[in-house]
Amino acid sequence: MPETPEQPAPELFDTVLIANRGEIAVRIQRACRELGLKTVAICSEADRQAPYGSTADSFLCIGPSSAAKSYLNQDAILLAARLAGAGAIHPGYGFLSENAAFADAIEKAGLVFIGPIASSIAIMGDKISAKRAMMAAGVPCVPGPDTALPDDPATIERIALEIGYPIIIKAAGGGGGRGMRVVPKADLLHEAIALTREEARKAFGSPSLYMEKFLEHPRHIEIQVICDDHGNAAWLGHRDCSMQRRHQKVVEEAPAAGIAPDIIQPVGMACVQACLQIGYRGVGTFEFLYEDGAFYFIEMNTRLQVEHPVTEMTSGVDIVQAQIRVAQGHALDLAQGDVTCEGHSFECRINAEDPETFLPSAGVVTHLALPAGPGIRVDTHIHSGYKVSPYYDSLIAKLIVHAPTRAEAMARMREALAGTEVEGISTNIPFLRALFEDGAFAQGETDIHYLEQWLKLRRAA
Ligand code: ADP
Repeated sequence: MPETPEQPAPELFDTVLIANRGEIAVRIQRACRELGLKTVAICSEADRQAPYGSTADSFLCIGPSSAAKSYLNQDAILLAARLAGAGAIHPGYGFLSENAAFADAIEKAGLVFIGPIASSIAIMGDKISAKRAMMAAGVPCVPGPDTALPDDPATIERIALEIGYPIIIKAAGGGGGRGMRVVPKADLLHEAIALTREEARKAFGSPSLYMEKFLEHPRHIEIQVICDDHGNAAWLGHRDCSMQRRHQKVVEEAPAAGIAPDIIQPVGMACVQACLQIGYRGVGTFEFLYEDGAFYFIEMNTRLQVEHPVTEMTSGVDIVQAQIRVAQGHALDLAQGDVTCEGHSFECRINAEDPETFLPSAGVVTHLALPAGPGIRVDTHIHSGYKVSPYYDSLIAKLIVHAPTRAEAMARMREALAGTEVEGISTNIPFLRALFEDGAFAQGETDIHYLEQWLKLRRAA
């Protein structure tokens, strides 16, 4: 009998439901189309006119404007996937992207969750179990126990003394920069714990807290990883996300300035080892604080991140496509040795908010001009006439630039910001323009408190 050529394994899915909205829904749709996959878009009533609906192969409204009744409604999303014939669900970021029960329900329904297996999400979703797993895998962590705070006041006092003040109390289930409180000295300890516990109970449904050293002038450095189901994992370089307001990232860059390759290399490899140890699948980010030449793990995000484009620009890897391909069961088509970091990239988050008070600004965009040119990328879902709704996150666009050096990338961002016009609503563009004129930022290596201090000085001036 003549030998039949080996047939490629059938793809696990050919249609992807994107369980998200806004710029990331557009971004994921683009990646799907480039891979030859069909797309299903979903929306809430507030997003019925969203342009990403008309470019998808199917578009279903799954509920009212409130996110709890639409983008967070697991049953409605699963029903939409069944009705539209989707074989996989991409959760994007936010909403249900780090919900282990959702990942589990998708797999139980016979569909593919484009993300890690539910147990990885559950381990990393609890910051205490994440810390424990990382310590076991040899990843350096912030000093402090990998267990929940006990109830006994004397034991708590002893743990705080062992760590040394200042300390930070954190909710095990915390996220989005909430559920944290710094304690500068012992007499404020018990009150801080009581307040944080109550907040954690209300916001995250769990009163579980832990305590660690509060680092006073760290930078926020993170490592992007990607893993397949065949025992391959790689890190795609590092990002600096220290420009934060209220623990929320505002500007991100890749690579982090002034960190020598021989310092970051072992940290990247420790992240890869940790992924292999926990059987991680898909993309993920290890977040670290970096102070006085040392790295301290704070948490792992088990999803695609807002700031993934800066790594795409420097590594040349399309992270969303790679994420979808590993979910289809393909082996990673790059080895660690193939990963390079070329040039420098910045991302600015353009938010619909007042540039002075940072209060959200909803309304109709009456005029929009976006920058273009070499090394400029804009990820957005808005257009002139678009109605920014008050129901969701205020992110309306991401401005991303890439250039050979950090200084050139900063100049390019200044040019890109100058060419961005949004009228009808307020945005943080004036604030970003001023920030990119700042001398210390241009020098690089500013810490996580820099932006808040800069804002305070500006207000005082
Ligand atoms: P979230 O899940 O809410 O984003 P993280 O644990 O990632 O919380 O922390 C968010 C930010 O809070 C960090 O980027 C950093 O600015 C600050 N932070 C967290 N832990 C510490 C710490 N031990 N010392 C100093 N700052 C911290």
